Amino acid sequence: MNKRNSRKLMKDFAFLRPQGGLTQSLMYFGFECISQESNILMSDLSFKKLEDIKIGDEVIGLCKQGTGKHYHLTSSKVLAVKRKGLRACVQITNQNNSLICTPDHKILSRVYDDCLSWREAFALKNKYVKEARPLSFPFFTTSSEFWKGWITGLMQGDGYKINHRQRIYLGIKSKDKLLLEVLRAKLEDLGIQCPKIKEKTWSQINKHGRSFFKKAKYWKPNRTIYILNIYRKNAVFEILKWMSLLPQTAAFDFLRGWLSGFVDAEGSLTQGKITIFQNEGEILEKCKQILRILELPFSDFKYKTSHLHALSCSNPFQLLLYATPVLARKKQIENMAVKQKNCFPVKIIDKGKMEVMDLTTETGNFIANGYVVHNCDDGWMDLLYKLCKEIQRVIDNTPDHSLDGFSVMQVKEKFGELAFYAGGYNSEIGELIDKAERKSRHTCEICGKRGSLSVKGGWYRTVCPYHRRTRGYMKVKPWHKGK
Ligand SMILES: [Zn+2]
Repeated sequence: MNKRNSRKLMKDFAFLRPQGGLTQSLMYFGFECISQESNILMSDLSFKKLEDIKIGDEVIGLCKQGTGKHYHLTSSKVLAVKRKGLRACVQITNQNNSLICTPDHKILSRVYDDCLSWREAFALKNKYVKEARPLSFPFFTTSSEFWKGWITGLMQGDGYKINHRQRIYLGIKSKDKLLLEVLRAKLEDLGIQCPKIKEKTWSQINKHGRSFFKKAKYWKPNRTIYILNIYRKNAVFEILKWMSLLPQTAAFDFLRGWLSGFVDAEGSLTQGKITIFQNEGEILEKCKQILRILELPFSDFKYKTSHLHALSCSNPFQLLLYATPVLARKKQIENMAVKQKNCFPVKIIDKGKMEVMDLTTETGNFIANGYVVHNCDDGWMDLLYKLCKEIQRVIDNTPDHSLDGFSVMQVKEKFGELAFYAGGYNSEIGELIDKAERKSRHTCEICGKRGSLSVKGGWYRTVCPYHRRTRGYMKVKPWHKGK
């Protein structure tokens, strides 16, 4: 009658008694968590350790739009942070990165040729079913080589070189003060001192009327422009040396940095697409070479009306992960499509018990160490925890050995309701189990709020109105005349 008559919440945990007691035993079972050391991708494309994340933080999540079957990126608020103590874990690894999680944690994977669906970590390798390939994105840390590259890319995009009385100096003008502040700080980190950032208006800069800006539609004479000039001879020499580096010989991190500096200078992000504008042939060529070395796909086109050359990047999210710009408006991921090219087979090994945590986010998922992971559905955790605590109390208060044979055989979900099978118990424990099972009929399995029996494709689950709506379940009449 029912495709899904039982879903194992936990395997047999009778063996865990008596050491540590029942409530302690519960802590060793999955409930879908990941290592607290994992790096979570935040909505500004930075990374934060899972253990440092707070309620209200914005992470990147995936969602489906309307009736579409493709996933899109969106920023997703953290609604809850759960610490779950020590749990048995596995490590999954591919060429991009690795993640430590409980074996039952769900990971977004490409299962058939064009279908992304959730798979438990332990089921990613299954010799009877076609191997699942988890979606995974590369992630990087920023090194000093990256920032050298960023300075170079920014200067080659927006900077200028002036020869004055046989001395060369470098300068950059920008309407974004932040860009120049970061530039100044990063130069200082590298031991290069710069003068203060100057402030001028457009009309002050162009007062001799030599600029084409005056003709432009967006001419705003009172807009502030920030200027940073680099005069020191050895600093100028150093930066010119970076500028002349050939992409083929530069370090990988330098190229990533160069591209992010260049996107900060010349890139534009509209409707989930990144376009890089450039008219100088040599620099355009350099940009193309770097995109090719980093294996970032792009197409090259020329505007008919303005003679402007542009490069359009066809995997913008990948580009932003490789080359994260400083400016917030150039790294908006909202509505970017998720490309399935980033699916690779993984290796799985046992890791033993580790400290684990989980998040609840608006989208129900988030990105940890590059893998898209699902929130844990632990709505019944409290219920089970309480039940185990109460059973333990009964056992502890029964000194006559009559409960020595007590064991838990199986705990699972059956027809959308908790099924707790135990042996060797007395009537007091029997009542506690009945009470917990009855309570589960009104408790959302996903979040623990008040819920009722619902169905999706023949699968029964008890869910709250919110999760019925968001996960596509339909309310049904319960068959038991529940008290
Ligand atoms: Zn719920």
